[in-house]
Amino acid sequence: MMAGKKYNIAVLAGDGIGPEVMKQGLHVLESVSKKFAIGFEFDEKRVGGIAIDKDGKALPADTLKACEQADAILFGSVGGPKWESLPPAEQPERAALLPLRKHFGLFANLRPAVCLPELTHASPIRESIVEGGFDVLCVRELTGGLYFGEPKYLKEEGGEMLAVDTMIYWEGEIRRIAKVAFEAARRRKGRLTSIDKANVLQNGVLWRRIVTEMAKEYPDVTLNHLYVDNAAMQLVKNPKGFDVILAENLFGDILSDEMAMLTGSLGMLPSASLGEAVEGSRRFGMYEPSGGTAPDIAGKGIANPVAQILSAAMLLRYSCGQEDAAAAIEGAVRAVIRDGLRTADIWTEGNKKVSTEEMGREIASRI
Ligand code: NAD
Repeated sequence: MMAGKKYNIAVLAGDGIGPEVMKQGLHVLESVSKKFAIGFEFDEKRVGGIAIDKDGKALPADTLKACEQADAILFGSVGGPKWESLPPAEQPERAALLPLRKHFGLFANLRPAVCLPELTHASPIRESIVEGGFDVLCVRELTGGLYFGEPKYLKEEGGEMLAVDTMIYWEGEIRRIAKVAFEAARRRKGRLTSIDKANVLQNGVLWRRIVTEMAKEYPDVTLNHLYVDNAAMQLVKNPKGFDVILAENLFGDILSDEMAMLTGSLGMLPSASLGEAVEGSRRFGMYEPSGGTAPDIAGKGIANPVAQILSAAMLLRYSCGQEDAAAAIEGAVRAVIRDGLRTADIWTEGNKKVSTEEMGREIASRI
């Protein structure tokens, strides 16, 4: 008999390698269920290209309904060459991911960039800089700023084209994303770097003022500020010097991709998009690998399932409040890497090359 709490998870595997890596994510969650007496109900639904083919749209109504009834969404990836000729608004990413973010008000994007000590060879950065690995978490504001501010238009004026985008942040938007970052830093090494451009932008002035003021509520977190241009340089120069990075939408978009590239292994990187807290610090969220559907290797059974498996760990941490179970998954991933098991994307001479399924099984067995 299951004694612990039961969680309802909407499972949206999507296209390409999505279903292959999702299978392993669920396999690992089943091991977690047994070890930690946590119950899961998986509601598997179509999304993306496969949903366009079978249901006529990328985000069918019954998929959205399943998400509404769930405690969290475990997402694979969507898209592929087959759907690239559709009108942009109907394409899998735009017609599934963006509406989901909007519908659930997912304003906080968390992207950990972890380079394990055994995988520093994959980093494009000099070994002397990344030796021993690094672990940085980027907390990016996802629903405001330059991407969504109004007015926003492209028009002809006086015989010339004019493009306008508006960078706009309300104090409340800054507060709620900063809270996520302070709380995350508190759970980690307790260091937060807030990114802005306060020397040029009014948005930066307000951002810095609010974050500085909030730091008083978190005496256990050490806060420092960096201008975004300097942050981009410091990340390359010394990624080990960072713990948690907090940035608005545009800056976070760029810096989180830079950080992913610093690790060199896309197949290892999870992500979370979180909404408002629903109970204590528990939040509704959508969890997905940082990479895409990898059409070049889809169907071959060689994709790295770690990003999907670590996304499940983030789901346990942020939407279920199950920190021990999340840490157990992360520990199991570190253990398989330490034991020399590698999928093709991270394989080097002297290690054992394993399939998607073997990797999932080995991680599940170490929970
Ligand atoms: P991609 O991330 O799918 O692939 C880039 C490279 O990384 C490829 O060589 C791929 O084989 C490799 N890779 C990615 N994940 C891997 C994994 N888990 N294991 C091993 N190797 C992995 O990016 P892309 O090629 O630019 O995009 C392919 C498709 O995915 C496109 O249709 C794009 O629109 C879509 N996409 C979807 C999402 C999403 O659903 N969130 C994100 C990015 C791209």
